[in-house]
Amino acid sequence: MRNFYSIPRHELEHRCREAGLPDVHASTLFKAAYKDLVNDPWNASSLPQKIRASVGSDLDIALPVAAKTLVSRYDHSVKFLFELRDGSLVESVLMPERRRITLCVSSQVGCRQACTFCHTGRMGLLRNMDAGEIVGQLIAANRWIANHPDWLAALSLPRLQRVTNVVFMGMGEPLDNVESVADAIAIMTDPLGSGLALRRISVSTAGHLDGLAQMVERHPDVRLAISLHSPFDAERSKIMPINRRWPLAEVLNFLRDAPTQLNHGILIQYTMIRGVNDSMRHAEELVRITAGLKVKVNLIPLNEIDPSRFASPTANAIDSFRDHLHQSGLRVMVRYSKGQDIAAACGQLVTENASASGQ
Ligand code: SF4
Repeated sequence: MRNFYSIPRHELEHRCREAGLPDVHASTLFKAAYKDLVNDPWNASSLPQKIRASVGSDLDIALPVAAKTLVSRYDHSVKFLFELRDGSLVESVLMPERRRITLCVSSQVGCRQACTFCHTGRMGLLRNMDAGEIVGQLIAANRWIANHPDWLAALSLPRLQRVTNVVFMGMGEPLDNVESVADAIAIMTDPLGSGLALRRISVSTAGHLDGLAQMVERHPDVRLAISLHSPFDAERSKIMPINRRWPLAEVLNFLRDAPTQLNHGILIQYTMIRGVNDSMRHAEELVRITAGLKVKVNLIPLNEIDPSRFASPTANAIDSFRDHLHQSGLRVMVRYSKGQDIAAACGQLVTENASASGQ
């Protein structure tokens, strides 16, 4: 059975017309589901009683169920362990900041890309999530916010009643599941639904070129984040096997031509790992290969999961790396992951049918 939350509004409109009903009912359903967050949008008061039977008899309205919810005592980030319809478990993290509330969503149960420093990579791919399961994380998180005014008050964010930004940086490589992710983005950005601006949605990829081409075609203005992690092909291939299929130079060339690059630039994510990619040699090469691209670099000190294999960089290494990028004219920030006390940081998300996640 398909899920209501995986259906774009134009398809609901088509279903209404086929059933001999005015297609404006689709707008009412969208408002009830995504703006008013009601449990059963088919029961919205202005809809005819027969609408569910004639338009949505083949659709269920189940959302991911939060099997566990953990709130960080340090930064108020919230980790949800969501159970999907088949019992699979995935995680999402709410990350409040001064003027926004970002939700990091999962797009796959597991991941096939096998990056060596990432727990999700060790699980392999169990299955792709459908658009409804992806959108469902946003609805469930918005309902949680609506039911926790104390959380907003503690953050002095009373005017933000909803998630303001979505990042596809949870479990999975989003562009390995590009159709569902692109469908989910279309639903999330529908002005009659959640109404998120496309510029507030970031899709993070390890460098999946086929998926990038499809994503840019469907959503040319979506923000892109590239998990780069090493500027040297041979070294990158060792920690990110995807680099053997799509080498860095090909990915960067693609980005040079992509329309999104012209509008707002590309986010480069660079997880710093001690002794692996944190030297000045790496910093200098990173500057060289990104020349001519409009990029911003996020340096993310590794969250140690298995310190015997991969360790966090020293404070000195982080400072030197950042300073070199900055002095070379790159926009750069050091991003310390949120929710460290609830294991919500990049690369730490752990589920029981799995291990962990992070781009
Ligand atoms: S870092 Fe991203 S692409 Fe690589 S294995 Fe982990 S989830 Fe997959």
